[in-house]
Amino acid sequence: MTVCPTGASYKRDDGIVLVDQEKCIGCNLCAWACPYGARELDQAAGTMKKCTLCVDRIYNEALPEPERQPACVLACPTHARFFGDLDDPSSQVAQISAERGGFGLLEDMGYRPVNRYLPPRVPKVAAVAAPRSPPVSGEASTRVPGTPLAALLALAARLIGG
Ligand code: SF4
Ligand code: SF4
Repeated sequence: MTVCPTGASYKRDDGIVLVDQEKCIGCNLCAWACPYGARELDQAAGTMKKCTLCVDRIYNEALPEPERQPACVLACPTHARFFGDLDDPSSQVAQISAERGGFGLLEDMGYRPVNRYLPPRVPKVAAVAAPRSPPVSGEASTRVPGTPLAALLALAARLIGG
C-alpha cells in the first residue's frame, strides 16, 4: 500500500486489503511492487483489480452462516481451499495449518503473507506402486514394474476388467 500515490489501495481494520475504484488512477505501481502477482490492471476500466476475499459474502448476514465464505472456497470441487482466522489457534484453518505444516510464500524474503499453503500429501498412486508379495507359483503376476503411471494404468485395467 505504501507505493500507492492516491491512497486507493488500503487495508481495513480486519486486515483485508482493497482498492478504492474511485481513487485508483491505474498507475500500475502496486502491481509492479506486489511479489505475488496478485494485482491486475483492468484495461477497460483503467483501474486496478485484486482479490477482495469476497468481502461482500463473508459478512453478508442474509446468507446462511455456512455460505459466508469466499466463492472460490465454496466452488472448489476437491475442497482444497479453507477460509478462517489464522490468528485464532482454535480455528479450523489454524489447526489444519499446524497439523500439515502450512507455509507462507516468500517468507524467507521478509514478507508476511496471511495465506498458508499445505504441502502435498503423498500421492495415493505411490501406495499402489509399492512392492507387493511375489505371486503364488503358477499365478500370473498383475504387478507392473516401473513408473507410478504404469501401476495406475494396470490398476485401472484390473478395475475395468472386473
Ligand atoms: S494502480 Fe491504483 S491502487 Fe495501484 S498504486 Fe496506482 S492508484 Fe494505487
Ligand atoms: S472468489 Fe476467491 S479469489 Fe475471487 S475474490 Fe473471492 S476470495 Fe478472492
